[in-house]
Amino acid sequence: MSDIIQLLPDHVANQIAAGEVVQRPASVVKELLENAIDAKATAITLVVKDAGKTLIQVTDNGVGMSVTDARLSFERHATSKIKSAEDLFNLNTKGFRGEALASIAAIAHVELKTKTADSEIGTHLTIEGSKVISQEPAVVPKGTTISVKNLFYNIPARRNFLKSNTVETRHIIDEFHRVALAHPGVAFHMLHNGSDVFNLPSSNSRQRIVNIFGSKTNEKLVPVSEETEILKIEGFVMKPEYGKKSRGEQFFFVNDRFIKSPYLHHAVNSAFEGLMKNDVHPGYFLFLEVDPHSIDINIHPTKTEIKFDDEHSIYAMLRATVKHSLGQFNIAPVLDFERDKGFDTPYEYSKKAPTAPTIEVDRDFNPFKEKPKQANIKFPFNRGKESSWESLYVGLKGEIETSSFGTTQQAQGRSLSAVEMEFESEEVTGNLFTDKETERGQTTFQLQNKYIISPLKSGMMVIHQNLAHQRILYEELLKNITVKEAVSQQLLFPLQLSFSKPDVAIIEKIREQLENTGFVFSELKDETIEISGIPVLILESHVVNLLSQLINDIKEEVPDSGFSQNDMLSKSMAASMAIKTGVSLNSEEREHLINQLFACKEPSVSPTNKPVFITLDVNELDKKFM
Ligand code: ADP
Ligand code: MG
Repeated sequence: MSDIIQLLPDHVANQIAAGEVVQRPASVVKELLENAIDAKATAITLVVKDAGKTLIQVTDNGVGMSVTDARLSFERHATSKIKSAEDLFNLNTKGFRGEALASIAAIAHVELKTKTADSEIGTHLTIEGSKVISQEPAVVPKGTTISVKNLFYNIPARRNFLKSNTVETRHIIDEFHRVALAHPGVAFHMLHNGSDVFNLPSSNSRQRIVNIFGSKTNEKLVPVSEETEILKIEGFVMKPEYGKKSRGEQFFFVNDRFIKSPYLHHAVNSAFEGLMKNDVHPGYFLFLEVDPHSIDINIHPTKTEIKFDDEHSIYAMLRATVKHSLGQFNIAPVLDFERDKGFDTPYEYSKKAPTAPTIEVDRDFNPFKEKPKQANIKFPFNRGKESSWESLYVGLKGEIETSSFGTTQQAQGRSLSAVEMEFESEEVTGNLFTDKETERGQTTFQLQNKYIISPLKSGMMVIHQNLAHQRILYEELLKNITVKEAVSQQLLFPLQLSFSKPDVAIIEKIREQLENTGFVFSELKDETIEISGIPVLILESHVVNLLSQLINDIKEEVPDSGFSQNDMLSKSMAASMAIKTGVSLNSEEREHLINQLFACKEPSVSPTNKPVFITLDVNELDKKFM
């Protein structure tokens, strides 16, 4: 048999490599910006058209390239940044693989204009799909401009795989943020479809953060600073009260390179422990400096993950440093959010020395004897005293008052006997569903502040309160947005909110739809949103959360068509407005919710396609007892 192995032609090899380096327009942006930084630029301009699908252009005032280097820079493994394998362990540049330009040139139309400081005339090179089309002398300023047009023009599958312009632009802005934050001394300018997105003058790190994320960010920042033999930490964390539901502003840089590290993220999170609600994430901008010999950045092709030699010490130092900063700047635990009171130690007991609970088991217990004695659990607190049981039930009180135990008085009586921990479960449940409740015609009750249970002729129904409410709100909002007849409640004092410029721009885009739901915007520009009216369905205190969540959802995914945007808006708003798990509902509220739910067009599924309720047949129940 004859030989069958061949070397792949260069342009094919480059296309394959490109698959690794260039996933989307944002990858090109990252590589070009990093090359400009490596070229010691002090001013960089990024121009993007159609989310980078049509054009990505980066202009810098860095060192530029000679005529030969310009040509060579598009060869695979052509780099000026390392000469030997040793250099890999002492990296001070972003790039080093010499793959980016070769990869990009394999899958786009690329133009390069460049000139070094000491040459009179520059060079202009055109490459398409790895083929040099032309190279000629050109009169250009010192520095480099690289234009990448029609990305993936020769790989339709990749092009079709790209997300909507909103999503791709989001990715580009993310990359832009990462490079711009790491290099505050460099001036950055970004334009998208002809308009300014960011214009960031050379500044310090704090100003850079503020210039990107909006002037109100300044007061949210707590400086972090520490230097030890193995690690230097500088940067900022956001005060705990500004934590976000979504992971927004979280940035780690190691030696000026943006990295992702779940491990270090955990360190920061744990420094915030006790200062934030569980589902809220802290914001941070942390710049770590370590000896380049002590890290390996080579483990990921797009280089956002790195490996530290001494991960554990870095974790411990980072956690301690952030904790220290939060302490130093007097960031006391924030009490103004609804904490789960169940976790608070009742006042009376907080002063007492803890003793272990003792469990007495009745070894003669025989369930078949006529009057069984219960297992008796004693708690280590002062029993009998009228006042003490109350504090024990601090966490349960709300539940007791509004659940189906009947009157509060009755609930108290019940709790008192519960303190004595006679587990007469038969008797308790018996009472629950017979006498008092049914007498007053109440037929629903709440389980775990999460589910509403309602008897049916054929059995029972378990309704997920949050999903049910989402369905109700979703249909209502969708109707309002399209039919435009929502009522709004005027605010006595207009609500002034600050968001970053791009975020305000997002709200501007959906202004009309929001107004249809009942919002009245009295101002909407730069970094300010002023609201003088809100939908009747929501509380004023929820507006900030709702808008942040909305902005976030839009950044994550918005198909550009009108109908689905309304759909998405309604879903997002319904999700933030709906009654949450953990909220106790009284019987009227439960009834109301059920009635509204079954007035919906599609009561059985949530807007996000989850089941809203399940039913359990008596037959099914019967089977459980066989
Ligand atoms: P790497 O950055 O890994 O070296 P690239 O393919 O990104 O690989 O770039 C190849 C080479 O082209 C670089 O090593 C550098 O010498 C040169 N180069 C790329 N972009 C620029 C630029 N903006 N200014 C000056 N030189 C550049
Ligand atoms: Mg590079």
